[in-house]
Parts: sequence; C-alpha cells; structure tokens
Amino acid sequence: MNLSLKPWNTFGIDRQAQHIVCAENTQQLLTAWQSAMRNQQPVLILGEGSNVLFLEDFSGTVIINRIKGIDIQEEADAWLLHVGAGENWHNLVQLTLEKGLPGLENLALIPGCVGSSPIQNIGAYGVELQRVCNYVDCVELNSGKPLRLSNEACRFGYRDSIFKHEYQNRYAITAVGLRLAKAWQPVLDYGDLTRLDPASVTPQQVFDTVCKMRTSKLPDPKVNGNAGSFFKNPVITAEQASLLLAQFPQAPHYPQQDGSMKLAAGWLIDQCQLKGTTLGGAAVHDLQALVLINTGQATSEDVVRLAHLVRQRVGEKFAIWLEPEVRFIGRAGEVNAVETIA
Ligand code: NAP
Repeated sequence: MNLSLKPWNTFGIDRQAQHIVCAENTQQLLTAWQSAMRNQQPVLILGEGSNVLFLEDFSGTVIINRIKGIDIQEEADAWLLHVGAGENWHNLVQLTLEKGLPGLENLALIPGCVGSSPIQNIGAYGVELQRVCNYVDCVELNSGKPLRLSNEACRFGYRDSIFKHEYQNRYAITAVGLRLAKAWQPVLDYGDLTRLDPASVTPQQVFDTVCKMRTSKLPDPKVNGNAGSFFKNPVITAEQASLLLAQFPQAPHYPQQDGSMKLAAGWLIDQCQLKGTTLGGAAVHDLQALVLINTGQATSEDVVRLAHLVRQRVGEKFAIWLEPEVRFIGRAGEVNAVETIA
C-alpha cells in the first residue's frame, strides 16, 4: 500500500512511501527497522521532515521518530536536560524560557525535532547546538545497542556532524542531552539583536527579537511549504575572497577562525535578481532569497529545476557554486544533492 509523504515533509511535496511508521520508543523504532531489513527494504528515519526534498516515491519504510520526554536536573552551575528525539525543537525552546532556563533563545522557531538538531548542528543568530549540547544518545540499528556520544565525539562543524558521515544510516538518535549554564551570556551579534543592551537584556527579549526577525523574513511552512535555507552559505579561501571582494566590495563576508571566509548565499542569489522567480509551483521566496518555497502544487522536479537555475546564475556571476543544505531523498535513500542540481 502506498502512503502519501505530504504531511511528513515541510516542503509539502506529494510523494509516496510503501510504509510509514511512527515510533514512540526505541523498541518500536528498532522493530520497524528490523522488519524493513527482513523485507530488504530501504529505511528513512525522519523527525519532522523539515530539511528534506523527496525526489521520487520512496520504495521502503519511513520511520517517524516520536520518542518523547523532557527531564530537567539542576546542578550548581547549570541545568541538565535530557530530551527525547521526537520532541518539537521550538516547543522545547519555549518551555526552557518559561521555566527560567536561558541559553536556547537564539535558536527559537527553527523547524524540526530535537533529535534532528545535532545532525546538522542547527545554528541561528550566532548560536549553534554545539554550544549547549552535552551528549547525544543513539541506538545502533543492527544490534539494538545504545550508545552515548559526548559533544566532542559528535564532531560538530558548520551545519555538520558525525551523523552526516560515519553515523549516517547505522544509528538512530533517541535523545539529546543539553547543558544550559546558569551564568547566562547573551549572544547579540546578529541583525536586530545588536540593538539590545547586553547589560540589561533578558533571555525573553532575545527570544522575542529572534521570533520577530524570523517571522518577518521567513515563510511559514504551513502557508508555503519550504525546508528553510535551501543552500549552504559558501565558505571560500582567503585568496578567493580577496578576488571576489575586489570585484564586489559590498558582498557580506564573515572571516572564520581557520582563515577561510563565509559568504551570505542569500545575498549572492539576490544580486542575480532571483527573488520571486518561479518555475512551475516552486519559487525563490521574495523576502529571503535563500529559501525556495512550494507555492501550492510544486513537484520535486520544479524545485530541482529552480535550484539548478539559481546555482547556474550565481555561478556565472560570482564563480561560486552553491550547494544545497537540504537533503535530497531518492527511491532508496539519500542521493547527492549537488549532482542532482548541477
Ligand atoms: P542574515 O541576517 O540575512 O545574514 C545572512 C548570512 O550572513 C547568515 O546566514 C549568517 O550566516 C551571516 N551573518 C549575518 N550576520 C553575521 C554575523 N554577525 N557574524 C557571522 N555571520 C553573520 O541571515 P538570515 O538568512 O536572516 O538568517 C538569520 C540566522 O538564522 C542565520 O544565522 C541563519 O543561518 C539562520 N537560519 C538558518 C536557516 C536554516 O534552515 N539553516 C534558515 C533560516 C535562518 P550563518 O548562517 O552562518 O549564521
């Protein structure tokens, strides 16, 4: 029996899977995995499907991770949270603020589940999950063996972690441990946050400012399907950056600790006058060029054609070739997103 994946991806792409299973605990997740393995079917584990593009019907089982539970322990200098992978990320941010536990406010309104947050080391407005992550609990799918990875073992990078590499497919994340230090340090480097007074600002004010910035610029997936930033911000060498800046001195650029330079993909796309460009049912969002949206009936072909167009235009103008941040899912699992839109 084929089942629609439309409710299970925030892009709202209408593809199908053979089975969809909601797992409320580790045992249910393992049972669904093992049953698919017995039937030699591919498996995809999803949280809220907020960072995927389904290219085709999925010829196997999609497991929706709905492992819940939030446990809070107090230590002398921090609060320790143990959070089920299937908890909604933004609800957790709200709950921590309501309970007077600051630290997650810059990460408000990021779509998706807690269990997905370490995979791409979610980040916004100068804070990444890495800053607050204490550990990640996983289960090895073949053996059912539980495993706890320390922050260091997760090998967090810019929108990256071990879960996108060695641990992809072999492990499922079941819970995330967070450590919120009581000595709160506001991070006010981005956008409207820079106008807040670091001496008197409260976590709630940071949260409200982040929510206002996000809702004023980013599309609501309930109105226009999307998967957040479609492309990664390119990181280029210092030499490449000086060549680019000689030609485009106004290009936003952010030096990285390792000497490389991060550029704003949204600015590059905007300079190619692509905001509002539509192809079939897909469009470049007219307020935030980094986001591709589903205007209602977009097919994955529409999104891929539009992403190709954006990559071509930016490449031709700036000699920078954008790479998708969104993960592309084919019939049997993840496929190479860059090759798909090249
Ligand atoms: P923005 O303020 O228009 O800035 C564009 C880009 O420049 C951002 O992506 C950001 O990179 C970088 N940037 C801006 N100020 C910076 C600073 N002071 N230091 C270093 N880098 C700086 O960004 P936006 O598109 O509205 O997004 C705001 C924040 O939310 C960003 O952190 C962005 O990454 C995050 N966000 C993430 C997603 C997602 O799906 N992953 C979607 C929407 C927004 P960084 O991205 O490296 O921070």
